[in-house]
Amino acid sequence: MSSSDKNKESKQAIFHINKEENFPDWFGEICRVAELADIRYGVKGFTPFPPWSYMTMDIMFDFYDTALKRKRHLPMLFPTVIPEGNLTKETEHVEGFTPSVFWIGEIGDGEKLEERLALRPTSETAIYPMYSLWIRSWRDMPLKRYQRCSVFRSEIKSTRPFLRGREFLWIESHNVFTTHEGALAQVMEDIETTKEVVTGDYGLPIMVFKRTQWDKFPGGLNTYAADTLMPDGKVIQLPSTHDLGDNFARAFDIKYLNENNETAYAWQTCYGPAVSRMFGALISVHGDDKGLRLPFKLAPYQVVIIPIIKGKNADAVLEYCKKIEQTLDKAGFRVHLDDCDATPGWKYNYWEMKGVPIRVEAGPRDIKEEQVVVFRRDIMKRESVALKDLKKHIKALGKEIDQTLKSQAEAKFEGLVVDADTIGQIEDAMDKGKIARTPLCTIEMEGLSCDEEIKDKTGGEIRGTRIDIDEKADGVCPVCGKVAQDIVYVARSY
Ligand SMILES: [Zn+2]
Repeated sequence: MSSSDKNKESKQAIFHINKEENFPDWFGEICRVAELADIRYGVKGFTPFPPWSYMTMDIMFDFYDTALKRKRHLPMLFPTVIPEGNLTKETEHVEGFTPSVFWIGEIGDGEKLEERLALRPTSETAIYPMYSLWIRSWRDMPLKRYQRCSVFRSEIKSTRPFLRGREFLWIESHNVFTTHEGALAQVMEDIETTKEVVTGDYGLPIMVFKRTQWDKFPGGLNTYAADTLMPDGKVIQLPSTHDLGDNFARAFDIKYLNENNETAYAWQTCYGPAVSRMFGALISVHGDDKGLRLPFKLAPYQVVIIPIIKGKNADAVLEYCKKIEQTLDKAGFRVHLDDCDATPGWKYNYWEMKGVPIRVEAGPRDIKEEQVVVFRRDIMKRESVALKDLKKHIKALGKEIDQTLKSQAEAKFEGLVVDADTIGQIEDAMDKGKIARTPLCTIEMEGLSCDEEIKDKTGGEIRGTRIDIDEKADGVCPVCGKVAQDIVYVARSY
């Protein structure tokens, strides 16, 4: 028995908090009890991620890696530090990020650096000066690259593990094209990738928006982003993709020779799936009052085996369970045999709280019958399965569990949108934790005051216009009364 097993009895196995009514408590407690993040590190916004959350995020990363590589993106890795001069090159960009940048100013015993270094808040200003050296001719494009890394932003607002941290894990993809059309096609591809991975693999329903001009990525032309719904009725931004136009190419001198041997500026996009934030959304959306419910595709342990050991049969039961473990392991499942000396009941509660999708129980009677008991965490249901069918059964059940989690999340999202034509109706929708669909004068003008007024009076933010469905504006802006050009969605957000 390992030392961590010995500690088990002192750990909490039973979790029960009403998630819908008490979401902030639920979230804080599940992070602590399921050992997802330890807030005792002592630096605001920085948290260690123990194995249970990190292993899950690692698998989430893998799904993104696979999708990006399939679409001909190549991985690379840039340094964590960016010289200050790079950040000042793109004035508009700097205004967007400078207030939240962590700076390194000295080394050793206070020796000042000649040039301050930023801990990357995002890597445009690190990568694009190199792109200006790497890109020479139209033959070098499309250039599709990405990196897995962590980024640093000194969030002024309150921090919370995963959802709002000062260091978070993400993928950033930076792509270069010879035409604006090529860049726009990449934006559409990114949106498809978001749907495939975030909804398809993580089971999180999304709405995809074109953000307003006052809410876009600093320095870019347009931002497109997916939102999902949290249990408290607020939406949270999941991956966003940005049409950077040729603004950054002009700032960082990314030029190439076209087919007519003329010099031209390149067109760029960037895409940033924040995996740690998506993990926060994942546990929030799929979890229930008893704790986590991890999708089968993502769970660090897809199957946990619990031997029902009683007296003289102990060796035979353990032997039986070990064989099952080997069989499932060989079949490619992530399987864990829990043979510590805690009671089976304690282990049931513990692994249910941890969200393991499938539990296999086996005792003396099961050996005799050549069967096992299979328990599925999503709907808390038990059934007996013949040993010879177990592999096939688990494969099918895993798919079913993922589908159930997805359908349950989708059902919550649907029917949440209400039409609102006045400020009062938007306010009413916000109070009820709904999403308001409302006409707006325009999302295309920076410095519009209608947005501020909606925010002040209703607490909701304009998330933009839907690009995943076709909608035509009618009616008037509820604030200024001008003829509406756009249909927008208003929601409280993270
Ligand atoms: Zn207006």
